[in-house]
Amino acid sequence: MGFFVPVPPPPSALVSGAGPTGCVAALALAACGWRVHLYDPAPAQSLGQRARAYALTHSTRRLMQSLGLWEGLLPQLQPFQRLVMSDRWAGAPDVLFTAADAPVGWILDHRPLMELLLQRCRSAPGVHLHLGEPDPPTQSVGLRVHCEGGRSPARSDLGIGFVGWDYRQGCLTCQVQLEGAAPATAWEVFRPEGPLAVLPLGEGRAQVVWSGPLEACRQRQALAEAPFLEALGAALPAGLRPSRVLEPAASFPVACRLAGRLARGRALLCGESAHRCHPVGGQGLNLCWRDVAVLWQEAAAVAAGERSLQRLPRRYARRRWVDALLTLAATDLLIRLFSNRWLPLLLVRQLILRTLSLAAPLRTLALAAASQGLVPLGTLPGGIDRAPSRGEQSPLFRRA
Ligand SMILES: Cc1cc2nc3c(=O)[nH]c(=O)nc-3n(C[C@H](O)[C@H](O)[C@H](O)COP(=O)(O)OP(=O)(O)OC[C@H]3O[C@@H](n4cnc5c(N)ncnc54)[C@H](O)[C@@H]3O)c2cc1C
Repeated sequence: MGFFVPVPPPPSALVSGAGPTGCVAALALAACGWRVHLYDPAPAQSLGQRARAYALTHSTRRLMQSLGLWEGLLPQLQPFQRLVMSDRWAGAPDVLFTAADAPVGWILDHRPLMELLLQRCRSAPGVHLHLGEPDPPTQSVGLRVHCEGGRSPARSDLGIGFVGWDYRQGCLTCQVQLEGAAPATAWEVFRPEGPLAVLPLGEGRAQVVWSGPLEACRQRQALAEAPFLEALGAALPAGLRPSRVLEPAASFPVACRLAGRLARGRALLCGESAHRCHPVGGQGLNLCWRDVAVLWQEAAAVAAGERSLQRLPRRYARRRWVDALLTLAATDLLIRLFSNRWLPLLLVRQLILRTLSLAAPLRTLALAAASQGLVPLGTLPGGIDRAPSRGEQSPLFRRA
């Protein structure tokens, strides 16, 4: 006579918000055996329709490779080998960042990203996708993961504040055809009104992320194509000429905010529900996905019976606040230091940029911090310790 040994049901989670953070969180939880319900009140079509492009770093590459998403994204990724940092107002030389044999980063358009993520969520065993439906107010799930973006209603329902400030700057984004740009080169240009990033999308197309006073962003957004291109051309580094607008400009306010706590009870905040930062340095989505990486590590330990589900939210919160706080502080410092014409700060900037342009090890260190995050992630459950394919590998980026 055999004994019947009951198998405990797999842990379950309800993920609210099927933006880039929620989809990747659902896939990560399912990858380690969790049963996941992913809800978003928006229908699939509108989830893919945002005119955005993301600069992906090596911390994101590791997560995507470990989850088996990288290969699917590769045809859509635009690697860039060089990042030029420029501050003409400080009279300092341009600083060129490169990373041995690896791209410095990759640019990815929002639409193909969401198409792939939603398609994987539909087909992943363990993920139940509910689009166009608000999440049920109560459900007996082990864990609630809130990925509802900066305006997360759950954050306030949980009684968690969103501490920080709005910048006087706003941000205008658009896609343009660009003449005169060196191939595979991204720019971060510091201007007194705010930074301007040029992200290559291939075939001369570029995403422009142009910060300035919010009112100026809105006025530029309302310009007809010719005067808009003229204004943009005047702001771009010498030699870069925008010839056509490919995606109309959109502008939005920018803020630096961090949730007062990242977890309460069985619920945790992930991605932009937990933090928002200035787009300078392209940290936003990478920081969101580093939250997911830590959630995945903790969820895998629960699924393996090594840790208790009850403690997961608190452990996640303890591990995530330092990276989030340091990243917000670093982007805020960049904005305070570089968005002005105050002479003492111009001199400090000149000193920093001259030192960076002369000291390759410092450039390597700065790039590693921006690319891997300020707190090492450790090994991911999917074991991305396989060598990245050719062109992705450098001694710097081999391991976190
Ligand atoms: C206007 C704008 C433009 C941007 N442009 C760029 C850019 O060009 N490049 C760049 O790198 N970054 C850009 N960002 C930042 C970037 O979009 C974020 O880093 C990224 O979207 C964060 O992903 P997320 O999934 O955490 O949040 P979101 O993308 O905001 O997704 C949140 C999801 O939650 C859903 N939701 C809301 N309420 C609920 C609820 N109650 N229940 C369930 N679901 C809910 C929403 O429908 C949404 O799908 C931009 C941000 C904004 C606001």
